[in-house]
Formats: sequence, structure tokens, C-alpha cells
Amino acid sequence: MNVPLLDLVAQYRAIKDEVLPAVTGVIESQQFIMGAAVAQLEAAVARLSHARHGIGCASGTDALLLPLKTLDLKPGDEVITTAFTFFATAGTIHNAGGTPVFVDIDPDTFNIEPAAVEAAVTPRTRALLPVHLFGQMANVERLLGTAAKYGVPVIEDACQAIGARRQVAGAWRMAGELGRVGAYSFFPSKNLGGWGDGGMIVTSDDAAAERLRRLRLHGGAKQYHHDEIGTNSRLDTLQAAVLLAKLPHLAPWSAKRREHAAYYTQALAGLPPVRPPVVDPCNEHIFHQYTLRVERRDALQAHLKAKGIGNAVYYPIPLHRQPCFASLGYREGSLPASEQTAREVISLPIYPELTRAQLDTVIGAIHEFYR
Ligand SMILES: *Cc1c(COP(=O)(O)O)cnc(C)c1O
Repeated sequence: MNVPLLDLVAQYRAIKDEVLPAVTGVIESQQFIMGAAVAQLEAAVARLSHARHGIGCASGTDALLLPLKTLDLKPGDEVITTAFTFFATAGTIHNAGGTPVFVDIDPDTFNIEPAAVEAAVTPRTRALLPVHLFGQMANVERLLGTAAKYGVPVIEDACQAIGARRQVAGAWRMAGELGRVGAYSFFPSKNLGGWGDGGMIVTSDDAAAERLRRLRLHGGAKQYHHDEIGTNSRLDTLQAAVLLAKLPHLAPWSAKRREHAAYYTQALAGLPPVRPPVVDPCNEHIFHQYTLRVERRDALQAHLKAKGIGNAVYYPIPLHRQPCFASLGYREGSLPASEQTAREVISLPIYPELTRAQLDTVIGAIHEFYR
């Protein structure tokens, strides 16, 4: 039995009767730019995130880049982030004029290590940029403590974590809620994916929201009047309509992912070469990825591939070891937990539409490999 890493066609078949009329409605209206669905989605995502404002933009990358631009970074200004993440997290720091400062991760959760962040603060630090990796929130409360101590904002890369939450001082707080801004991606493979690129910024800071709304429209709050230089980064009405139709499914889809994750974890528990993902007890994980640490990772990958089982390595090279960041001076050994993690991880199919038989096929193949 083939088990793809992701099956977006299965999702499409299940919901096409809800999504296609929404798309047709936009086409009939011909309001492709900033049509009604954009504001509706912004309000709905803001509500979901316990935020006052949602600001649609062209991608998750721009949902990071625009808030970083509001920091007005000067050469040499530093933004502290994790070395173990998708490239956009650090690429946007550079493109906003700053220097990424990479720190190591907590080997259990794969998320940025708060003590390492505190140790990396310098007089040039302008922001902290944690990532809620694979759908599990980082320790935001400790990062907020560090940020407050040094008077810098937290920008949350919640691109993999829309709808994830964490208990902080006895209350559930959403990914993207507690930082100055949070960034979401609607890339098709994300838990809430459009039919193309899209992203959203959430914030409860009124001044930040106003500036971000301007920046996505060439810096002009009023058409043809430009207060500052922005860019063209809007969320298409078509994408907003697709996402609005999908949004009611997000919570049940994430619950399904958690159910599949629990099934995998239980079935792999007795297998010493395999370490299932660790969920911090404060967190409700949304399992954008189900990522194991394993022995003989590359051989397992080849074995699964030969059996028609989709899998992927997120991420094979930590960002401090990417050639484009060589000038920053990190070496092999600079961030050992990130480096070891990059050698050991493998992600398995975890999408909601997986059947029990498919899960059992994946589990059987892993047991067979280590037998
Ligand atoms: C997907 C992703 C992004 C970028 O989102 P795009 O919509 O692809 O531009 C940024 N950070 C992380 C952690 C991501 O997973």
C-alpha cells in the first residue's frame, strides 16, 4: 500500500462542495484584490488567535518580513532566532536589513532554547524571533521575560502552528497571541493551506497593525499618498475565500493529526532506535509534522521510500551551516543540538485523511527495518 507524505487531493475531494462555490463567488464578483473575503478571513483568524487584528499578506515569508521591516534595522542590528527551522525565518531577517543570530534548540521539543536566547542577547539585539516548530509552541513565557528585560519585541514565526496553544499561567494562549506580532503561512501544505501562496500577520498592537496595513500597500494608507516605502503584499481574495471555507475544518483536522500521532507514538514505543516526538505537557500540539529521532536515519529513509511510504527530512542542514550564512562565522560544533537533530530526524505522513490501514503500513515498515 502506498502512503504519500501528504495527500491534498483527498482533502480536496472531501471539501470541494464547500470550497468551489466560494471560489466561484469571487470570480462572479471579479473583486480579486482586497475583496470582502479578505476582511472576513482577517477577522476570523484574529478571533482564533485572540488578537485584535489580522493582516492578510502574500505569504508566510512576507508575514515575517513586514513586521521585521517595522523594526527599521540598521547594519549590524541583530535578531535572535533558532538554527533549526525553515529557511524563511532567517532569510527575512537578512532581507529586512538585520543579522540573524542563531541559537541552539531544546533537543526534546526541537524548539529554541530560552536559556540560549538569554545568553545571546547583546546591545545590538533588536528582536527575538522564535519558531513554533512542527506545530508545537516554543516556551513563549520565558522568551517574553527575556524580551521585556532587554526591551525588545518578540515576533512569533507561527507559520507551522496556526491554532496551536499553550497553557501559560493557567490560561490557554494561542500561537501568535503573546508576541508583538505572529506570522502565519497558508502555503498549500500547511495545516490551513490555500490553493496557492498566502499569509497573515496577527497583532493586538494597534499602531503596529496600522503600519503593517500600510506596508503591504506600498506604504500608503490612502491610495497614491505614500507615507513610507512599502511593497505589494496582499492576500488574494480567491485565496481568502478558499481559506474561509476551510477554516471551520482546521480544529477537527488538527484533532485528527493528534489522534494519528498518538497512534504512531504508542505503536513505536517499544522500539529503542526510535524516539517519538516529545510533547511539552503545557502544549496542545497541532502536528504540522510528526517527526521522530531515529538511528540509521538515511537507511530507514531508503527503506520507507522503497516501500512507497512518503517521508521527509525537515531539516537536513541547520541554518548556521548554510553556505549563504558562512560569513557569520559559525562552525560545525557551534550549535550541537541542532546539528545532531538534523542528522537524526525523519518526518512521517500525518495528514488527517490517513486511514488506520495506512498508519499500520507505516508502523509495520519501521518495525520491519529495525527487526
Ligand atoms: C512555511 C514557513 C514559512 C514561510 O511561509 P511561506 O508561506 O512558504 O512563505 C516561514 N517559516 C516557517 C517555519 C515555515 O514553515
